[in-house]
Amino acid sequence: MSGTCRVVLADRFFMTPAAIQLLKSVGTVVWAPEKAEKTLMAKVRGATVIAAEYNHITKDVMDAAKGTLKGIVAYGVGYNHIDVAAATERRLYVANCKGSNAEAVAELAVTLILNISRGTHTGDRLIRNGKWRSDQSGDLPSILKGRELARKTLGLVGMGEIGRRVARIAKGFEMKILVYDPYLSAEIVNESGAEAASLPRLMAEADYVSLHVPLSGETRGLIGEAEIALMKPTAYLVNTARGAVVDEKALLDALRRKRIAGAGLDVFSVEPLPARSQFLKLNNVVLTPHIGGLTQEALEEVSRMTAEESVRIARGEVPVNLVNRKELAAKGLPI
Ligand code: NAD
Repeated sequence: MSGTCRVVLADRFFMTPAAIQLLKSVGTVVWAPEKAEKTLMAKVRGATVIAAEYNHITKDVMDAAKGTLKGIVAYGVGYNHIDVAAATERRLYVANCKGSNAEAVAELAVTLILNISRGTHTGDRLIRNGKWRSDQSGDLPSILKGRELARKTLGLVGMGEIGRRVARIAKGFEMKILVYDPYLSAEIVNESGAEAASLPRLMAEADYVSLHVPLSGETRGLIGEAEIALMKPTAYLVNTARGAVVDEKALLDALRRKRIAGAGLDVFSVEPLPARSQFLKLNNVVLTPHIGGLTQEALEEVSRMTAEESVRIARGEVPVNLVNRKELAAKGLPI
């Protein structure tokens, strides 16, 4: 099969020259950054592997490569842009780059926690707008009095690759860590120096709630009005997972009414965040443009893993980070 495959990179993402070289060892590499499904369908014709970061890989896109397509690779960790059920039905592998950017996202989650606690965004704007005057220094405590992380309670919703690393960093602040992750045994939670908790208990007790679950049918809207209502007025919500895990309307309402202290958001239900978004009007929110995995180290790793998984699929091997392993095995595929 070597040299005859077609690998379609269905987005515009960073790949190192070494990763592209590796892909070329199994065939041709085609970039297809088109967002429109019809254009993408034309580009994936004859593809052996499709790799995508955000572009939706629907059943129609898969069918456009019918007869040649063997699998799809999510460039990154989240794979909610790929119709996994449709891929499984077509006996296609779906792989992701599990762990590739976990350190980067964990560090951003902690960055947002620190920024929102200390109002660094407000302080920065104050200086740039020429409002830090000696005669006003006495006002600073009313604008910029922060809160310390030390010995506070951090609630982690989901503790996989990223959540575990956030827990490790939080230990340095001597934080108490509560975890809601029904798929983890109490032993694994305890090994991270954390304590398992129900979601209502976590929401009610945490000073910081940080989200680290994948977006799925189960987690869409997991943090809704009822959950936000349980939070303390001094608590902060940080989301580096996926926007739709949170009911954004309920969050906006709680922030506007100062029902909670603030939020740090890297992800949104609609990205890029529309210019009319109400989040832009609030001071108690720190916003970043989905940069969780955007570090040099993570980009190199995700590009390497995307290439390696694509090559495995092209060669007829089983990818290492197969996300539909159980479902394909149930269909009788030898994995
Ligand atoms: P992971 O698969 O290692 O961990 C996810 C954890 O969530 C697992 O421990 C799982 O048991 C838990 N979980 C699943 N369903 C749950 C539920 N209903 N309730 C509570 N816990 C649940 O994934 P990860 O590498 O830690 O990444 C988590 C998510 O972060 C990704 O799926 C992705 O959407 C997001 N992410 C965002 C960025 C970014 O740039 N902001 C980058 C990478 C990943």
